[in-house]
Amino acid sequence: MAAFRDIGGQDRLVKYLQQSIARGHVAHAYLIDGERGTDKNAVAEAFAQTLQCEEKGKDSCGRCHSCKMAAGHNHPDIVTLTHEKPNSISVDEIREQVVGDIRIKPYSSLRKIYILPDSHLMTVQAQNALLKTLEEPPAYAMLILLTDNRDMLLPTLISRSVCLRLKGDAALLLKESPEIQEMKEAFFDVFARLPQMTVSEAKSAAEGAAAFKEQRNDYLDLALLWYRDMLLLKAGGSPDKLIFREKESVIREGAGHYGFSDIGRLIKGVQETRKRLNANVNAELSLELLFLDAAR
Ligand SMILES: [Zn+2]
Repeated sequence: MAAFRDIGGQDRLVKYLQQSIARGHVAHAYLIDGERGTDKNAVAEAFAQTLQCEEKGKDSCGRCHSCKMAAGHNHPDIVTLTHEKPNSISVDEIREQVVGDIRIKPYSSLRKIYILPDSHLMTVQAQNALLKTLEEPPAYAMLILLTDNRDMLLPTLISRSVCLRLKGDAALLLKESPEIQEMKEAFFDVFARLPQMTVSEAKSAAEGAAAFKEQRNDYLDLALLWYRDMLLLKAGGSPDKLIFREKESVIREGAGHYGFSDIGRLIKGVQETRKRLNANVNAELSLELLFLDAAR
């Protein structure tokens, strides 16, 4: 598990959580929302570990019995939800691991804390089951929902939680190394030119991108952030909120070239490409489909 002192780049959020702990103002439910690649899990774990720490400070001590159990991921009063299917969390999983379990009092601490990674994967039934628990949680219970796609969550669930946003930062997302630098430069070059590419240019760009074998997922993460930025500009959002601020002019060109539905389709296309690559479908071919769609 983590400590607040190990989390970089989220000073305001960390300060807010530490003040809540110091003042004893801790809510029953939190929703931590942040782009893929941000440290949602580390924040949730640091929060949970600090609340359970026997030293009762603003950060976990790392030495007490509770901290040691948390560090070993076997703290009986910090439960992290697991799910069988990669793309969904079922109502049975929520019932067994949260709704039923939450009635059992904490084992060795004052609180019982549940961390729900990828909470947007809950089916609607699962969310409804959780909602009932959130309406009347036991005094000792606390839930931390994590998501990178809060639009998939029921508004009633969101309204019962304290919502916290993590800054998405592509620079944090990728640890810089010469290989990553090279991949990023190639990415920016391709994505700036994509709307104007001919079929043969798109094909050779796909060949080039497929060659970044180890970094294909990172490449696709960049693509998602790129189109998210484009959507933001197209919707009249402030350039201050761009992840790739230094690329504003070229992203704006793209936003002028595509319609809203095109950008939505491209985002889906990137997600689809990721699935194909994870299923070991030919990378060059998968990327070619995506690039040809973006180039038309
Ligand atoms: Zn401790």
